[in-house]
Amino acid sequence: MDFETFFKNELDSLHQEGRYRVFADIERQKGSFPKATRHTSEGPMDVTVWCSNDYLGMGQHPKVVEAMKLAIDQCGAGAGGTRNISGTNHYHVLLERELADLHGKESALLFTSGYVSNWAALGTLCSKIPGLICFSDAGNHASMIEGIRHSKCERVIFKHNDLKDLEAKLAAADPKAPKLIAFESVYSMDGDIAPIKEICDLADKYGAMTYLDEVHAVGMYGPRGGGIAEREGLMHRLTVIEGTLGKAFGVMGGYITGSAALCDFVRSFASGFIFTTALPPTLAAGALASIRHLKESQAERLAHQERVRKLRAALDRNGIPHMPNPSHIVPVMVGDASKCKWISDLLLDNFGIYVQPINYPTVPKKTERLRITPTPLHTDADIDHLVGALHALWSRCALARAVA
Ligand SMILES: *Cc1c(COP(=O)(O)O)cnc(C)c1O
Repeated sequence: MDFETFFKNELDSLHQEGRYRVFADIERQKGSFPKATRHTSEGPMDVTVWCSNDYLGMGQHPKVVEAMKLAIDQCGAGAGGTRNISGTNHYHVLLERELADLHGKESALLFTSGYVSNWAALGTLCSKIPGLICFSDAGNHASMIEGIRHSKCERVIFKHNDLKDLEAKLAAADPKAPKLIAFESVYSMDGDIAPIKEICDLADKYGAMTYLDEVHAVGMYGPRGGGIAEREGLMHRLTVIEGTLGKAFGVMGGYITGSAALCDFVRSFASGFIFTTALPPTLAAGALASIRHLKESQAERLAHQERVRKLRAALDRNGIPHMPNPSHIVPVMVGDASKCKWISDLLLDNFGIYVQPINYPTVPKKTERLRITPTPLHTDADIDHLVGALHALWSRCALARAVA
């Protein structure tokens, strides 16, 4: 086989379908977020980042940066091993305690990313519990889908956030089979929020475990940043709460929290936890500082929510259609793959505004969008500049306006 030709042909079809991903080459500037430098063939240019998952700017928070500097001077660069073989650093232990406390659980377990935590924890729970049936929301993230698929358990996909469909499917399943319901709190692309309480009620009724991905909510909702389940007083009702250290906490890594026995079980059986080098102590130290800060400080959360309201109001005044939702994610709807890419290119090249286009297969066709994520550090001037640019491009690309 001619491998090179094969690779090139596959890439050509991605190009033809408008699905080829181009990465913007940006250099973040500590202290200037959301401003960054973009490297282009014509040299460097300044951009404002409007699509970061560093939702609160914690990736550059002085406490986080200082904690990481201190840890590198103390411990050096790497962890030096897997968790089992010399790689458990004291910072990992402190961080796991902090996470368990954040979610009101007995234990927590760290992974190298949120992706790995979902893949490994769901993969292990769904494969090791004999006869388990996994009920998975149709909108679940790729990491959950891959973990469930990898487990080879029986899986039932229920309609997104649809309690009737979930209940019908639970009721139709063998009453004796162990069950797990896997879902998210804030969904990444539409920014909608699951009916967590009602899903827990169904789980109780049908004897199912619950597994909640709070990746887009940890640090951001709840009085201590414990997520939507904390805000709604529901943390104790979930079997597993999963999160990331890479989004609002601004660093990197993932975790699950749950009972001591459940976490110990995953620790003892999950290949993706056992056979990989532990996170560098610096990352654990940075995440620890970030979580501790956000447990006490409301300032970032309040400022963030105010910025989101301000941006939505400005979009509304200009008739720029955006999907209404109860979260911080502002999906500006374009509804056409090539126009979405075109607008994103023009924003970047002509206005110094960086918003990555979101096209199929990340979202369904005809719902192509710009997923805009305001942060507390975007100024009024940044908002005016973004909305002004969108206003101009909406006319230029002949896109429909929303009716006020
Ligand atoms: C980003 C994301 C993950 C993965 O987290 P990482 O720490 O980035 O690997 C998991 N679940 C959801 C819903 C996500 O959006």
